Amino acid sequence: MSTPFTALVIDDVDGTARASLKPLTLAELPDDEVLVEVAFSALNYKDGLAVCGNRNKVARKLPMVGGIDLAGTVLESRSPRWRSGDKVVLNGFGLSETHWGGYTRYQRVKPEWLLRLPQAFSLEQAMAIGTAGYTAALCVDALVDWGLQPGQAEVLVTGAAGGVGSVAIALLAKAGYAVTASTGRPETHEYLRGLGASQFVDRASLQQKGGPLQKERWACAVDAVGSSTLANVLAQTRYGGAVAACGLAGGMELNATVLPHILRAVALLGVDSVMAPMAKRERAWQRLARDLDPAKLAQMSTVEPMSRIAELAQAILAGRTRGRVVIDVTR
Ligand code: NDP
Repeated sequence: MSTPFTALVIDDVDGTARASLKPLTLAELPDDEVLVEVAFSALNYKDGLAVCGNRNKVARKLPMVGGIDLAGTVLESRSPRWRSGDKVVLNGFGLSETHWGGYTRYQRVKPEWLLRLPQAFSLEQAMAIGTAGYTAALCVDALVDWGLQPGQAEVLVTGAAGGVGSVAIALLAKAGYAVTASTGRPETHEYLRGLGASQFVDRASLQQKGGPLQKERWACAVDAVGSSTLANVLAQTRYGGAVAACGLAGGMELNATVLPHILRAVALLGVDSVMAPMAKRERAWQRLARDLDPAKLAQMSTVEPMSRIAELAQAILAGRTRGRVVIDVTR
């Protein structure tokens, strides 16, 4: 098939990375074993960084097709693992960084990167979850492995109204925890309550410089913000608790002391979704299939055409996106 299709390509224009919609053909795609007809991709914070240019180098070689996620149907496979017609999901593994990503009608990828679409979800729902939602599940798994028991004192979620935060709240509430949401947008309180948050903290209070050991409040926390927020969350975590840190929406630095760790046995659990092994991915997606109420998923997600990605990317970096944005690559 030599008919051109549309993709969002990030390219070097006079030394600056610029994203635009361009025609591609199958012959131009990478020569990997599995050809996927993409139905949906998604907009994550990292997609915002990639699409908005070279301030943070997400795309490490240009030209690059954007989109760190994809969900679609296998069209052709040179690998015995997959057959034509299989429904698949791909999160991370360098998509939009070192390998062409999901903002396209077709993509060729490595067989070992693909996960079978869980029966509980449609392709659109899988991208409503996307990397942000699957990362939220990885965070909850990390806290459970640490020993988080339902019914303990409150669990905090920062960056609550964003993608990771929204899914983390829904999963934690469903698993029986009392969830406090930290947000800078009071107008999202009703939305967050609908997902399962019972208490709220103004995110500004977590951004101020605080002492190394503060009043113990949280049994555990999911942090999507980093920087001074993460330092304060660590200082407010109860004896023996843990913080699953996955994000840097508020900054990548961490100016903190060791005191919460050595005096309160608080653990800082790092969570990475990009290179997470397949067993961890499958477990996270099982949690999502079991615990994520489809009605809540619908409340937290909108579908947008690929033609709007440039403006949507600006919005997510400015913290104006609520929940999750699915990208329809056919429009
Ligand atoms: P979103 O933009 O959807 O959510 C981020 C949220 O953080 C915002 O909604 C906002 O929440 C809050 N926020 C935004 N800017 C600031 C700021 N300057 N200071 C404090 N809070 C802020 O992004 P995602 O949910 O997709 O991703 C969240 C973070 O997690 C990102 O840093 C992303 O890179 C990271 N991430 C990491 C992964 C990994 O593998 N480790 C995978 C996926 C995401 P509110 O309005 O409620 O205050």
